[in-house]
Amino acid sequence: MTDTHDTDPTCPYCDRAFARESYRDLHLGVDHADRLTDAERERYETAHEQEEQELRLYRYKALGLLVLVYFGFIILYAFSLGAR
Ligand SMILES: [Zn+2]
Repeated sequence: MTDTHDTDPTCPYCDRAFARESYRDLHLGVDHADRLTDAERERYETAHEQEEQELRLYRYKALGLLVLVYFGFIILYAFSLGAR
């Protein structure tokens, strides 16, 4: 059972296929939370933690882009004032 878990990203409970193992692990924790084995719960927590980190990084990038656009417009505005 451990071997199929590691190589085949398909849910052992509902046979749903996933593109990545981490997606399957997240699905297990969300949709089958009441029947997880200890190993599955551990994998879910690892995948969940990893996703949190990726989300945090994404938020920082989005915030950085927003700041760049904001100051870009301020600089454009300053140039438009000087061009008169
Ligand atoms: Zn499932």
